[in-house]
Amino acid sequence: MKDLTMEKIVNYCKQYGFVYQGSEIYGGLANSWDYGPLGKEIKENIKKAWWKKFIQEERNSFGLDAAIIMNPEVWVASGHVASFADPLIDCKSCKSRHRADKLIEDFTEGKETGDGWDNKKLEKYIADNKIPCPKCGKSDFTGIRQFNLLFETHMGVTEDSASKVYLRGETAQGIFVNFNNVLRSGRAKIPFGIGQIGKAFRNEITPGNFIFRTREFEQMEYEFFCKPDTDLEWHTYWKQKCLDFLKDVGLREENLRYRDHSPEELSFYSKATTDIEYKYPMGWGELWGIADRTNYDLSVHEEHAKTELRYLDPETNEKYIPYVIEPSVGVDRLFLAILCDAYDEEDLDGDTREVLHIAPSLAAYKVAVLPLVKKYHSEKAMEVWNELSKQFMTSYDESGSIGKRYRRSDAIGTPFCITIDDETINNGTVTIRERDTMKQETVELSKVVDYIKERIK
Ligand code: ATP
Repeated sequence: MKDLTMEKIVNYCKQYGFVYQGSEIYGGLANSWDYGPLGKEIKENIKKAWWKKFIQEERNSFGLDAAIIMNPEVWVASGHVASFADPLIDCKSCKSRHRADKLIEDFTEGKETGDGWDNKKLEKYIADNKIPCPKCGKSDFTGIRQFNLLFETHMGVTEDSASKVYLRGETAQGIFVNFNNVLRSGRAKIPFGIGQIGKAFRNEITPGNFIFRTREFEQMEYEFFCKPDTDLEWHTYWKQKCLDFLKDVGLREENLRYRDHSPEELSFYSKATTDIEYKYPMGWGELWGIADRTNYDLSVHEEHAKTELRYLDPETNEKYIPYVIEPSVGVDRLFLAILCDAYDEEDLDGDTREVLHIAPSLAAYKVAVLPLVKKYHSEKAMEVWNELSKQFMTSYDESGSIGKRYRRSDAIGTPFCITIDDETINNGTVTIRERDTMKQETVELSKVVDYIKERIK
């Protein structure tokens, strides 16, 4: 929808039960969100779609579910303890806190990202351009301090430094530390990939924009292990695969773009990194990062864990540390993109129809069962619901006019409504109404399951 605002999406999500403010009855907890009945369904469907594409349908692909709390040495080796930090800057006037790189990015409307700049360069840019504080408008900032994003906690009964552990800042490290296990147990041959879906935690300085940036979020990460010097080719392959996936789940091409990281912005170990950005209501933002991480991660773990993390090529007898391509996408950011892309308000003869044109395979309910007249048709409708709910998430609605019930189903994106009326009782047929075209068709009751299955593939 043109001119869709974040406020509109937040209110819509709350009204219909997609996403609620976290701990709401206690006044909430800043930037924490709970997925409601409809949101939970869509989120699961997104994860299933990713799993199907990246694990099930991809050759030599393996799934994993690693622990959230890992040996803290993992995070020392990966570099997160020393340098998983954001540049924090305070406004001296109103005391608000900001990420220095994001100040620059917002001020230049994305022309400069500040990524990869050292503190001196960031401070100088902010001062030279007199970048104002977004809260109070003054341009009077403190120096920059690096703020580590890892959440710390303690394991066991004592709270000393020996018991300190971290909530994982990304799911990827769980994959790297299991490289040998999957290689051996899966009898994997290079190239192959390992993927996992799970929660990650970052003590973000500036969370916000609804579920776009939160401190607790979910990632779908894939580590693709390949032969050295084939990495750039595979990087191109995965960039395309990720974009295709986004189009498959219904995102419009005009709302997607690649953004290649400049040499200055690239991590020191990366040969190439591309973000796929989505045009959110607040502007373009990173949805999916596709990074060529060379052999950095396995090398540092090999060194720190004193365990060989190499592949013995059965054909050449050559032993090497594989290179890695990492496509990493946030479930919550994808969820938000899908909702923003699908939401619409259509003008219907002077009336407004709120509709979610979400891909049927992702919709929370696939079908709604609606008795035309409660008194006469609800018993038959319940029978139909009992059968359909064995196959699909099926809703049931008997209150209000049939028109109102169609609208409620449209608003939450249910692709099909089935009306149960006298014809159903007398002739065994139902009327099926399709969400997007609003066209109605008469279908034999016995054929309804196949009819829907065919259309929600
Ligand atoms: P950003 O620059 O926006 O902070 P990032 O480059 O640090 O993101 P990555 O470390 O590459 O992000 O993480 C991979 C993906 O995880 C991102 O593309 C995004 O979809 C998701 N993600 C990262 N941080 C958050 C967060 N705080 N909240 C929600 N999703 C996140």
